[in-house]
Amino acid sequence: MPILVKNTTKLYGKQLALNNVTFEIPSGEIVGFLGPNGAGKSTMMKIITTYLPKSDGVVTVNGFDVDSNALDVKKSVGYLPEHNPLYLELYIKEYLSFHANIHLVSKDRIEEVIDLVGLTPEKNKKINQLSKGYRQRVGLAAALLHDPEVLILDEPTTGLDPNQLADIRNLIKKIGKTKTVLLSTHIMQEVEAMCDRVIIINKGEIVADKKLKDLLESQEQIIEVEFDLRAEEQLLKTIPNIKSVKNIFDNTWHLSFNTKEDMRSKIFDFAQKNGLKTLQLQQKVNSLESLFQELTN
Ligand code: ADP
Repeated sequence: MPILVKNTTKLYGKQLALNNVTFEIPSGEIVGFLGPNGAGKSTMMKIITTYLPKSDGVVTVNGFDVDSNALDVKKSVGYLPEHNPLYLELYIKEYLSFHANIHLVSKDRIEEVIDLVGLTPEKNKKINQLSKGYRQRVGLAAALLHDPEVLILDEPTTGLDPNQLADIRNLIKKIGKTKTVLLSTHIMQEVEAMCDRVIIINKGEIVADKKLKDLLESQEQIIEVEFDLRAEEQLLKTIPNIKSVKNIFDNTWHLSFNTKEDMRSKIFDFAQKNGLKTLQLQQKVNSLESLFQELTN
């Protein structure tokens, strides 16, 4: 198993940052580690990469224990920390040589990773001449130098503009074809754009662990509708496929449905038939977003 975390707890003094966390990540998955600020994402990642000791539990990477076999774990893992620690005064190649020496990898590999992360057009520049997007590529290149099986990326897209964001997401997807990736974020769209699976953490506890495919299939449709008059809840419950009815304010309702069929025209027909006028009709489908809000509020 590339990543195994079992009953893991972390205390900073008396502050509980991780509480009995358990998950496994099999080979080849890109997993989004989603949670609000302070949820424990960075702490978990630092433990997996051996940068921080856990207080209790078991964590292994490629079968190597993070406490008793830290060196083998380091060889198996590429890590891009949250604040990508680059030496701005160095040329890209100098910076990557420095990392190549630590990992005892050949200089040829530097050219390989430069190509892999799309840094070729910028490769003769100093790091301080690069945009934030290209700086992230340098961090990714450094994490990939020793060709690790597992990649741990802590908020890899924070602070990027929309174009850089799209480029880095595509790059991570490409790299993810041959690696096991755990990436943290607090942005739901990020998970939808890149990941096979999402693990949601809140206040140090795992509150959801689902395949994106299952999540999207179980997606419920919520429609916000405003009528001109007060409708009876019992009457609204007679709309076909309706799952639940919730009054938001005045004559505005959230109606949820168990179907992928767009129910807006059905609601419109229902209103007409029952002497109601539809003033507003809006589909609210984002199951991951609603799941996240429900679980982390
Ligand atoms: P996230 O990455 O999800 O934002 P962190 O893992 O950074 O969350 O933090 C989890 C909790 O642990 C937070 O309450 C944070 O304040 C606390 N924490 C993180 N690092 C330290 C530290 N070095 N000392 C004390 N508390 C810390």
